[in-house]
Amino acid sequence: MSIALRPSACPGLLRIVPALDGGICRIKLTGGSISAVQAMAVANAAERFASGAIEATNRANLQIRGIGGEQTALIDGLLEAGLGPQSAAGDDVRNLMLSPSAGIDRQMLFDTRPLAEQILATVQRHEHFHDLSAKFAVQLDGGEALAMLEHPHDLWLSAFERDGARGWAFGLAGCPTDAPAGSVALQHGHDLVVAVLELFLDLARPEQTRMRHLLAEQSTEELLARLAERLPVQAITGWRRTSGADVLHIGVHPQAEAGRVYIGTVPPLGRLDPTMLRGAAQLAQAFGDASLRFTPWQNLLLPNVCQAHAAEVVQRLEQLGLLCNAGQPLSRLIACTGSAGCGKGLADTKGDARQLAALLQRHGQVLNVHLSGCSRSCAAAHTAPVTLLAVSPGHYDLYFRDAAQPGFGALHARKLTIEAVAALLDARSRSPLDA
Ligand code: SF4
Repeated sequence: MSIALRPSACPGLLRIVPALDGGICRIKLTGGSISAVQAMAVANAAERFASGAIEATNRANLQIRGIGGEQTALIDGLLEAGLGPQSAAGDDVRNLMLSPSAGIDRQMLFDTRPLAEQILATVQRHEHFHDLSAKFAVQLDGGEALAMLEHPHDLWLSAFERDGARGWAFGLAGCPTDAPAGSVALQHGHDLVVAVLELFLDLARPEQTRMRHLLAEQSTEELLARLAERLPVQAITGWRRTSGADVLHIGVHPQAEAGRVYIGTVPPLGRLDPTMLRGAAQLAQAFGDASLRFTPWQNLLLPNVCQAHAAEVVQRLEQLGLLCNAGQPLSRLIACTGSAGCGKGLADTKGDARQLAALLQRHGQVLNVHLSGCSRSCAAAHTAPVTLLAVSPGHYDLYFRDAAQPGFGALHARKLTIEAVAALLDARSRSPLDA
């Protein structure tokens, strides 16, 4: 495989970028899915050629951190495991988000996985799509109950059913819970993605790397009119994607097939060590379908477990240090790399998150809290109900999500210690808080 890569600040499988704690390699997974054998290859590579830190990302991918001088050996091992792109230049454009329960979800209208494979093959095969930004991303939503509906995507497609007919609602630069821009028949899903990507590449100037940049200059209506010249697009009114339950990514949940469950388990603060990943992979081999699925909540699922074995699998996952109970505060906190591994970090977010989790546990509180080492918000592509933005070591500004405010929401207090944050959240718990 040619390794002629374009320059980018984003890590890829073939482009290891430096950080304070060593190199970072990002492994893109189709629909978050990885076979148990591949997961073991990742664990081995992280152990042999890096610090052993493996991260689950908010795009349902994996990262190996702390890579030393043996980058080629690490990359070769991952390629041998079948984790590479179809072509070197195709790695950056493998940005397609699916539900972690695609194909097994009790509520799904449509199994998105075959279409996802088709789209990924197309964008990797055709060189003109390689001009897309490494951040340009598409979401395919099959109507699953377990779905990340808060991450903005450049293009989203959401399956819907009306009068017995199924189709794709779609939107540009937003989330499936937004009002859709239009719809196409189910069989036109692939054509729609291709047409939107081609249209974007035709119209966007080089500095306009994301759909929102183009929409700042051209109206959605103009783009839809041009799209309608390429494929049949219909208006859609009176339909809106609704959200499912909050924590379907943690714990034991039934699948569409009777007697089968998936088990969602959380590596504390999104970080696994090789023993954890290897152990989860072995459990998937013994009790599941020999695969794992990573999620945009920075955790992983073991799909297709027999219900009768669920309690045993949960127990074994917990023995590995993985969290399977959404009532544990640490399972609900997310934190970026922070100052321990990132030069931009103003505080040790992961260490502070563990301290906060212990205090919340003492207060009997479970909240979705995001700790960010700087305003770049690497750990969350969405706005969390509570955000702590580092301002100096051990000190954070506290924000509460507020639909009327952009970014992290409404600034509530400045320069709080973790103890002060815990005390404030405890005091506030007597009033309703969206968590
Ligand atoms: S949010 Fe800031 S501090 Fe945290 S990992 Fe990203 S760049 Fe680094």
